[in-house]
Order: sequence, then structure tokens, then C-alpha cells
Amino acid sequence: MTVRTRIAPSPTGDPHVGTAYVALFNRCFARQHGGQFILRIEDTDQTRSTLESEQAILDSLRWLGLDWDEGPDVGGDYGPYRQSERMDLYGDYARQLVEKGHAFYCFATPEELDQMRREQEAAGEAVKYDGRGLKLSAEEVQSRLDAGEPHVIRMKVPEEGTCVVNDMLRGDIEIPWKQVDMQILLKTDGMPTYHLANVVDDHLMKITHVARGEEWINSAPKHQLLYEYFGWEMPTLCHMPLLRNPDKSKLSKRKNPTSITFYRDMGYLPEALLNYLGRMGWSMPNEEEKFTLAEMEAAFNIETVSLGGPVFDVQKLDWLNGRWIREDLDEEQFVGRVAEWAFNRDNLKRMVPLIQGRVEKFTDIAPLANFMLSGLPLLDESSFENKRLEKETICKILQFSSWKLDALQDWQRDRLYEELNQLAQAMELKLKDFLFPLFVAVAGSPSAPPLFDAMAILGPDMVRARVRHALNAAGGVSKKQAKKLTKEYQSITK
Ligand code: GLU
Repeated sequence: MTVRTRIAPSPTGDPHVGTAYVALFNRCFARQHGGQFILRIEDTDQTRSTLESEQAILDSLRWLGLDWDEGPDVGGDYGPYRQSERMDLYGDYARQLVEKGHAFYCFATPEELDQMRREQEAAGEAVKYDGRGLKLSAEEVQSRLDAGEPHVIRMKVPEEGTCVVNDMLRGDIEIPWKQVDMQILLKTDGMPTYHLANVVDDHLMKITHVARGEEWINSAPKHQLLYEYFGWEMPTLCHMPLLRNPDKSKLSKRKNPTSITFYRDMGYLPEALLNYLGRMGWSMPNEEEKFTLAEMEAAFNIETVSLGGPVFDVQKLDWLNGRWIREDLDEEQFVGRVAEWAFNRDNLKRMVPLIQGRVEKFTDIAPLANFMLSGLPLLDESSFENKRLEKETICKILQFSSWKLDALQDWQRDRLYEELNQLAQAMELKLKDFLFPLFVAVAGSPSAPPLFDAMAILGPDMVRARVRHALNAAGGVSKKQAKKLTKEYQSITK
């Protein structure tokens, strides 16, 4: 058997460090067994998937050195590797399950299903699809199909008993079938859900081992059942522990920057970030903390991955990155890396519109470009001194902006302007006053390049990190204040 592993990201946002982490372990496992590592884009959710996000994922995995043997950009024998280009094939598989009696049509409207949920809630029952589609007679189904009524296809799920799923790290996991929903396989628009597309593609792409985040454990019974229904062999499953914030909560952009591009822009070396990700739940047999991808591949053993939630701690990453910079780059390489990081053509091009019109000589560039070449500015309470704004208001502006920015999906200059302008109005502040602490947060000083352009260029993770950092520097908010502010924020942004 040739080992074939894959990473199957959905291109719906910034390239996440968790994606790189799972890719790394899949790639090591495949390499170590002389197998192949595949990249498949799961873009069945057409409203949330974007080509920019896909490109950013490919670019950042490549930047880290995690290249793949088959994928949408490199091709391969089992393509296409983008689910949106495979849409034609899923419907037949779903209908095949209906024919075999493992799946059924359901015509319930969203309103009916809402009503069902409300009734279940009122009766104190677990909210779950109640199998109403199963009660329709074959004739009724046929006549409603003939009449062109909107419908979905759902999989049948046993009502009784327990599903046992084997996991490489956890052994047998038992999940009562009662907890498993009769999952939709094919949606009203004929598009497959994640579950159907994922199982069909893993099978067609001859994937032998699926290592993915533990948030997918609850999907495993559905997948196992689908493999049984189709009569296919299921890949071996391995659910990797989730990365965590230092406070042990699930790594989230609200607390920690999570996008790979943030770490690139901050000036981490790809080999150091990869090395650090390799230490999430795993360690070298000799306990060495610094190692290359090739060393990891040679020594890798997936069974020794530990399940205690690995903490992604930026301070430890700093330490490791420092070691890589000091120990592994000679002067020549150092020069090359710095030039590539800061003064590459792309970076300069992004900066030009903001600075060219404002310089008389090149020495004027550095102070203007500073905001792009630094990480978190050095700030303290005095950085926010302002005649018109009290400290409390400054913190409130930063906290509200931080919440606003956390929720913003579409990170474009004009959207940023609109959202923050609205917030300023809702807070009954003049835009100029409202923007003062944001200038300090984003650019390190109140006079700086045009704020919204700068925010657009810096990208969500860097801006969110700077605003959070500024909030702490300005004095922060206590838990009690945060509660009060949450209420106020909700009432003014409703
Ligand atoms: N598309 C899923 C994701 O975004 C893939 C999960 C899996 O590996 O099965 O993570």
C-alpha cells in the first residue's frame, strides 16, 4: 500500500497556522512511508470560498516549505483537486445511496425545520432532525420530485446503539448513534455538503490516512457510515490535538494572531515557524528543540503525538526564531533574508502609493514606512495623551474597535472606513477624535500615513494585534469593565 495523506483546507479566510500544523504532520507521515502528500481545496461553500484565500493558503504553505505532490496548481492523476471543479460527480453518489436505501429525500422547508426545532426545545428534547422524510411513501416522494419540489438528500443513521470509531492516537472512540444527526449530503441547490464531498474525494483520491484537527471527531461516525454504505475501505483516522492559546482556550484570532502571513510579516523565518509547529504535541526522540523539516521527517512517529493541548506561545516562538536567526544564517544569508523580507518589490509596491507623494528625499521614507516594517510599536500610557479624550474613552475606543475589527470579514479600505466611521457615530465622537488612538495603535504615532490604507495594507492579523497591544498599553480594561463595555457595545451597534 502506498501511503497517501492530504490536507483539505477550505479557502474561507486567512491561511491559518493550524492548517500548516496539520499539513506538516500529514506530510511527515507520508514522506516517512515513502508516500504522497496531496493538497485538495474544499470550496463547496461557494458563498464563503474565495480564490484570494486559496492563493494565500497555497502561497503560505509553500513559503513554509510544505509543498505537495498533487494539488490544484501542480495537477496529478486524481484531479481535479478543487471540489468546485468536481461538482458534477457528487450528486450521483448521493442518489446511489438513496437507491441502496441508505439515504432519502427530504422536502421539509426551512420554516418547517425551524418549527420542529422550536418544538423540540420547548419539550426539553435534544434538537435534531426527526426523520420526517423517512415517513414519506415512495409514491409521494416520486410525485414531489416530479413536481420539482425543492429537496435535500440526507443519510440514514441508526437510532440505537453506539458507533465505534478507531483513531490512531485515541484507540476506539465510542459515540452513541443518538447523538448523530441524519446529515444532509446533497443540499437543495444540488451542491454536496462537506461530509459527502470529503468522503467521496478521499476515496477517489486513494487517501489512506486522514490526519485532521480534533474538531472533526464528531463527524467521524457519519464518515464511517458513509464508507460502509458505499462499500469502500475507510482511511485510517488520526485526530490531532487543537492548538491552544497560552490560557489553554482554543487558538483564536481574538487572542492570538493565527494567520501564517502575520508571522511572515512579523519577520519569523519559515524554518523556525515550521520547527515550532513540529513541536506542537510532538518532540524529537532526543528532545532537541531545534530541528529542520528533513530531520523531523526522518525521526517522525505519529503515534507519539501527545494529546495534551499544545500551546502556541508566541514568546517561545520568538526564542526559537532567535536561535535560527543567530545560529543558522551567516552574514550573507542574513542580508539576503532581510532584504527579501522588507525591501522586496511587492512590499515596496504596496507602500509606494502611501509614501511617494510625501517624500522629498529617500531618507524621508524610513519614518513613513516604519509602520510597515515594525511589529508591535513601543507604547505606554503617555503615548495616548490627548487634551480632548480621557483615558477611559481612549480604552473604550480601542476595545470597541477591536471587537468591530474581529468581526470584520471583508478587509478592504472602504469597508474599514465605513465600519469605523459608523462606530464613531454610534459612540457620538468626532471622527478625528475617535481615530486618534487608532493612529497611535496602528502606526505608533498620531501623525502617520493615511490610516485606512495603512490598515488595509497591514492586513487583519497585524492590525488586530496592534489594537489589542495598544489597549493594554493604554491601561487595558478589567474583566468587570469588559462586561459593562460588552453591554454598551451591543446596545450601540445593534
Ligand atoms: N475542509 C475541512 C477543513 O477546512 C477539512 C477537514 C478534513 O480534513 O476532513 O478543515
